[in-house]
Amino acid sequence: MTNNIYFIANWKMYGSTSLLKSLDKVINLSKSKKYKMAKIIYFPPFTLIHNFIKKFDSAKISVGGQNCHHKKDYGSYTGSISPKMLKDLGCKYVILGHSEIRTAGETDNEINKKILSALNKNLKVVFCIGETLKEKRKKNTLKVLKIQINRGLKGIKNFRNILIAYEPVWSIGTGVIPNDEELEANVDTIKKIILKKTKIKIPILYGGSVNSKNISKLKNISGISGFLVGSASQNSKNFIDIIKKTIN
Ligand code: PEP
Repeated sequence: MTNNIYFIANWKMYGSTSLLKSLDKVINLSKSKKYKMAKIIYFPPFTLIHNFIKKFDSAKISVGGQNCHHKKDYGSYTGSISPKMLKDLGCKYVILGHSEIRTAGETDNEINKKILSALNKNLKVVFCIGETLKEKRKKNTLKVLKIQINRGLKGIKNFRNILIAYEPVWSIGTGVIPNDEELEANVDTIKKIILKKTKIKIPILYGGSVNSKNISKLKNISGISGFLVGSASQNSKNFIDIIKKTIN
């Protein structure tokens, strides 16, 4: 693993103000010299973004939104949040292309529009890609990754604010992770596709059932710059264990 190691906490539709206190331990860890290479970023539900930003005031922990609208400023879109609004709250990041949103009907084209808008507002984008079990079984993984990357990143000239999270859909929330060879091969493929677009080294993260038990295995996969953690990040002790086991 290289200099900065990303630890992304995606809280999905979980969390309440009563859990804010539990973040104290993560704040302490973020201040310790030993873990200074850990880049910790929380993605709480929209309702808690303001609380998290206030909570992390003195800590080296960033906050982002789990999604945003493709219109970058304001508009008559009931129930939506724009990149401008995330920025106004103090968010530095946004997750786009998450499979739980793709499954609900989001297309590559919509994701591309969202990415362009988010970048325009100077948000860093965690761009999620990954194949379904059906696509994997049909041996279509590489084809799918290529299509998702090419469509999602269409028209992007500056890749400095892009991170890629490779998240096999069949691994999210299932407790199943890819084997080492498969994961290394897919990460390598992603790198090669990206290299055709830019010479900038884009961080590639792995996401899908990362926990404090399998992290010792996952951290040895070459080419990975960190992890997107869903369920296990909602418990501060588990999230801290993941960070400690990766860096120790
Ligand atoms: C995710 O939210 O993208 C994720 C990987 O979830 P989990 O860690 O629960 O599989």
